[in-house]
Amino acid sequence: MAAGTRSDAKRWYQKQWDPDRAVGDWFALLADSGWGYPSWPTEWFGRSMDRADVRAVREERKKIGALPPPSGIGPSLLAPMLFRHGTDDQMRRFLPAMAWKGETFCQMLSEPEAGSDLAGVTTTATLDGDEWVINGSKIWTSKANEVDYGMLLARTDPDAPKHRGLTFFLVARDQPGIDVRPLRTMTGAASFNQVFFDDARISVNDVIGAPEDGWTVTRTFLALEKNSYNPDAHEGGPFGKVDLDQTCAQLQQREQARRSAAAQGRGAGQLITDLIDKHGHGITELTRARRARLHTWRRVMGYTNQRVRASRRQGNSLPGFEGPMSKLTVSTITREQRDLGLETQGPHGMLADEHGASGQFHHFFLSSPAISIAGGTDEIQRNHLAERILDLPKEPLFDPNSVVVEDKKT
Ligand SMILES: Cc1cc2nc3c(=O)[nH]c(=O)nc-3n(C[C@H](O)[C@H](O)[C@H](O)COP(=O)(O)OP(=O)(O)OC[C@H]3O[C@@H](n4cnc5c(N)ncnc54)[C@H](O)[C@@H]3O)c2cc1C
Repeated sequence: MAAGTRSDAKRWYQKQWDPDRAVGDWFALLADSGWGYPSWPTEWFGRSMDRADVRAVREERKKIGALPPPSGIGPSLLAPMLFRHGTDDQMRRFLPAMAWKGETFCQMLSEPEAGSDLAGVTTTATLDGDEWVINGSKIWTSKANEVDYGMLLARTDPDAPKHRGLTFFLVARDQPGIDVRPLRTMTGAASFNQVFFDDARISVNDVIGAPEDGWTVTRTFLALEKNSYNPDAHEGGPFGKVDLDQTCAQLQQREQARRSAAAQGRGAGQLITDLIDKHGHGITELTRARRARLHTWRRVMGYTNQRVRASRRQGNSLPGFEGPMSKLTVSTITREQRDLGLETQGPHGMLADEHGASGQFHHFFLSSPAISIAGGTDEIQRNHLAERILDLPKEPLFDPNSVVVEDKKT
């Protein structure tokens, strides 16, 4: 860690932090001083700090109780993508937008026929003067109904090989050619959407990376996204839209209330412990074995997080094996917790009303499959580990035309 980082951060926060300041002014001050996102480049609202320094700054901010800058897809995914592939003009417009102007972003990548195989997207972008015209549809787009911009992958050359002829864009969501329709999941919530494009428009200035080189940008995006399950990837401030005119103290109170509600609803580890206390009679050899497995996976998770930090200290800004491992361990732990919770309750686990299992557990149970799918499925993470990290032979491609269907003789 650079000498003086901790004391400089402490001095700055002690001098500047004022809970009665308006949120928008505070976020602007954080970005302007470089203390809000210290890992960002010095010339772009940061201090070019490494992980150890960034952690020290966060610790000092926490001790003083100051509000962190916004978190979420903008600062954690789009900003590092812009540092690699963006233009100066894009950084001048979009970094302030996410850092203090309250604008938010979503990912418009998956399509009905292209999820794991993203290079198969068929949404098209056609150049018309100094604008691209977008037609097609994206699906499973989280928060598309409330954000300002979408990160969009579209096909710009239908004749080029699959991984070429793609371009990565930033598209303004609020425009006549975009229709966002909510999709309800089995939990009852509608947190993601299908988005339809009918001659939507994007300025030529809003291509990220070079036209036709969208796959390079997508690979950066996917590497960063796998790591977004790591709490270190976020500064800790609010996700999503906030009122910038309220005071910092008011926002902190709201965030605190939201976190307590979320902790009650999502603290799966505590939820399972409570269920075991309540339904102790449900403990069997099987549940004991599952608890041991859960414990092992938590240790694996701890080790993976340590490796992520170590790799960052060595200056690797894109995760290697740690990203897919981190994602896989989170989804394995979620499944183990889900099954342990059900087994512990015995027959009560089948009930969802006040006589049976807690409603919270059922919400967790119903939402648990999502974690193995969102951000790349478990199978895709395993393929990545096998082929790119362990150097095992590539999976044979399935060719439906090579399957011979034998006539059934009756
Ligand atoms: C909660 C949630 C939020 C999401 N948010 C967004 C979002 O904001 N933006 C966005 O663009 N997308 C989002 N998604 C979509 C997500 O990225 C895709 O669902 C995911 O990439 C899988 O794609 P798919 O659904 O098309 O499944 P498919 O790719 O069709 O896969 C179907 C099954 O086949 C398996 N499979 C596919 N290919 C292989 C292979 N080569 N080897 C082995 N097995 C394989 C998969 O593992 C899976 O089990 C979200 C999904 C969820 C669940």
